[in-house]
Amino acid sequence: MSQVFEGGCFCKSVRYRLNSAPMFVHCCHCLNCQSQTGSAFVINAIIETERIELLAGVPVVTALEGGDGDPHDIYRCPDCLCAIWSDYGRRPGWRFVRVGTLDDPTALSPDVHIFTRSKQPWVGLPDNVPAFEVFYDVKQLWPAASLQRRRAAVG
Ligand SMILES: [Zn+2]
Ligand SMILES: [Zn+2]
Repeated sequence: MSQVFEGGCFCKSVRYRLNSAPMFVHCCHCLNCQSQTGSAFVINAIIETERIELLAGVPVVTALEGGDGDPHDIYRCPDCLCAIWSDYGRRPGWRFVRVGTLDDPTALSPDVHIFTRSKQPWVGLPDNVPAFEVFYDVKQLWPAASLQRRRAAVG
């Protein structure tokens, strides 16, 4: 795929380019994501780390604990501390890039809504995108090409 997506933090110290479309896009309505973003949900584009090209700046990491007790590292701009991407479970092969940091945040839309059990009641979900109370079966939902990329990235 030849698509290119560029983005960065709010102050523009950190700039990045995604060298292809992501494997899959999550919109997560869990309470951790609400708390960490100060908003109603997070939109994460899941992509191989090697397909993220840093164009400027070096993100700093804040280490949090995920909902399941696994580590959750958030990569931030060292200057404005804007969260740019996450590593859930310290898996070096892929990253969860915050779609809102793209120059064109409409370029990617959610492939799935997860943790809708804690969704804000005023958030309406589209009929044509799968939604799950908690999580879902990756093998059933992800396109074959994305599953192949996933295997190559994280085994
Ligand atoms: Zn910044
Ligand atoms: Zn979440």
